[in-house]
Amino acid sequence: MALTFAKAAQKSTTSLSTSKPASSPSNSTKQTPKSQSGVSFLKSGSAAQEALATEEAKAEMAKAEAGRAWRFMLKDGEEKRVTFLDGNLDENGMLTDQRFYQHTLFVNGNWMNFVCTSDVDQSQPCPICARNDKDSRPSLVGVLTVIDHSEHVVQSGPNKGNVIKNQRRLYVMKKGTIKHLQKLAEKRGGLAGCTFDIARTGEKEPNVGNQFDFVEKHESLASIAAELGLKEEDCLPLSYGEEIKYYTPQELIELGVGKAHGGPGYEKGVGSKIADQL
Ligand SMILES: [Zn+2]
Repeated sequence: MALTFAKAAQKSTTSLSTSKPASSPSNSTKQTPKSQSGVSFLKSGSAAQEALATEEAKAEMAKAEAGRAWRFMLKDGEEKRVTFLDGNLDENGMLTDQRFYQHTLFVNGNWMNFVCTSDVDQSQPCPICARNDKDSRPSLVGVLTVIDHSEHVVQSGPNKGNVIKNQRRLYVMKKGTIKHLQKLAEKRGGLAGCTFDIARTGEKEPNVGNQFDFVEKHESLASIAAELGLKEEDCLPLSYGEEIKYYTPQELIELGVGKAHGGPGYEKGVGSKIADQL
């Protein structure tokens, strides 16, 4: 069991790490014959590809997520106290969150998030946008860092049963929440250092909460660290480039979540976020 997993992970890691062509995009027109599966240009073949798209892909994605910061989330009816570590206003009075386009897909029984590649890699269309189905539209999201003051009991692994709290979480929000936090940031002179009780009051409400009850604003990140007994470095905003996994278009195709693309007219879609024309 363990061996199978290790082998699978190693194999796919190798194939993922070699899938970054420095100069030639993988989806050039010189590729090998088309097939119905749409993954014909992959060296591994469609049979191997299908296998990869199931359990192995899930393992690969879980591995990629391991060690990265968790996303802050609330269940319906839940409330948690958090402190924002960033989210100041810029000189134009706008919230300084980092933004990107994100796909949220149901993969093998789990909701998974993927960065839309269309803004990052304009040499080829985003393979998830290229699916052009009802689940494939990307959403603009903004990300901030919060310290989650709620207690979490570790469910499995060597630390099972341990209670953790005051951990940094990615606060990934959609447009409605960005607007809401923009208002709160204006009111508080920036969100960094602000503590809120955040509640989610309905299943349809954002999973990062929809009600924000202001508690206090700390003077500095250092004062938060001192108050919580944390190191100052644990009260800095997260490094988003490291904490949010970016899969290249090729990797998304290999994971089986995106559609391989090729053929005539395909270059028209390059650079587009909403792939109507694909
Ligand atoms: Zn996309």
